[in-house]
Amino acid sequence: MTDDKRTPHSDARRSGTTRSGASRSGVSRSGTGRTGSSHSSSRSGAGYTGTRTGTSGTRRRRKKKSPFKRFLNRHFTLIMVILLALLALFIFLIVTKMKSGSGEEKPDSGVTKTTQTPTAKPDSPSPTPDPTNAAEPTATPSPEATPTPEPTPTPYVYGMCSSVTLDTEAEPVEGDNWEIDYLMLVNWSHRLKYTGNPENLVRLQDVLTADFYTIENPYTVAESKRNFVIETEEDKYDRGNRVALEHLNEMCTDFNAKTGIGIKVSQTGAYRNYATQARFWNNRDKSLNPPRTVPGNASEHRTGLGFDIWVLDSGENDTTWFRENCYKYGYILRYPSDKKKITGVAYEQWHFRYVGAEAAKEIFDLGYCLEEYIAYKNGEDLANLPTY
Ligand SMILES: [Zn+2]
Repeated sequence: MTDDKRTPHSDARRSGTTRSGASRSGVSRSGTGRTGSSHSSSRSGAGYTGTRTGTSGTRRRRKKKSPFKRFLNRHFTLIMVILLALLALFIFLIVTKMKSGSGEEKPDSGVTKTTQTPTAKPDSPSPTPDPTNAAEPTATPSPEATPTPEPTPTPYVYGMCSSVTLDTEAEPVEGDNWEIDYLMLVNWSHRLKYTGNPENLVRLQDVLTADFYTIENPYTVAESKRNFVIETEEDKYDRGNRVALEHLNEMCTDFNAKTGIGIKVSQTGAYRNYATQARFWNNRDKSLNPPRTVPGNASEHRTGLGFDIWVLDSGENDTTWFRENCYKYGYILRYPSDKKKITGVAYEQWHFRYVGAEAAKEIFDLGYCLEEYIAYKNGEDLANLPTY
């Protein structure tokens, strides 16, 4: 029904063309063919009639089958636009949903995660700076702990050093290059720990002017009746502390220049090794009290800081100039006549001890012996000093 009505319309449209005429006849034929027989018969008939009939038949079938296609043809652009719009909308929705979904998930998980992770991170870093802060205060007390060893040197006790012990019963042990302190106290109560040589020991001839030392013992020469044992091996005692010898040479040079009197520093009156000092102690004049010598580990001759000076051509070894001026060179008279009970040693006007210029001046001004000065510097009561 609709086909008939449409056909004239389509015919009327194509009436202006030559093909329309052919298509007309074709229409009637195909119309007969269609109505009268099946598709196959009309096709066979058309195939016989000629190509044109077949073609027109195909066209007609196209026309009939393609209302939708025609609709598509007419509104193809519109449809495509709509489809594209729908597609775009669809994609847009999907993308939006995915974005919103992932955005919600990410913020959700991200918020929880990021809030947790950052909180955990700042938390974990914050303890990290905490130890840093804790380590900084630890480093602060560590310098305070460094002063802790300082108290070890801080309780510096005048008269003491690592080579001195207060244990008078301790037997000295082997050891060389033991420590020298210019204020070290070596006496009856302060004993040397070692039997070997101290540090900074040099030979007299390396420092002293040739006129200022002798290989003989002037004391023995002057009073040969005393029968002292003279050490013949020079290198065992021909020595002294280098710094002390430099100042001794300066002092002797000044004395010689001012008085014209020669002096001698006995080699046995300089440094003494342990064996020599022990022999002196064993051969001491036991009638003297206090004795004029001390045990092998109680003599400061073993430090190389003490020297016996002999003024030649002075009869009784007059050391007045040295007693009055020695402090200018860092020396003190070690065993004054009025300090025998404190030093435990008889008066020796020849024995001078190097202590350094500052202490020597102070000792000279105070009128102390070395034991008194050490006790004074340590803040001790001088009345408690042991006496002999
Ligand atoms: Zn002496």
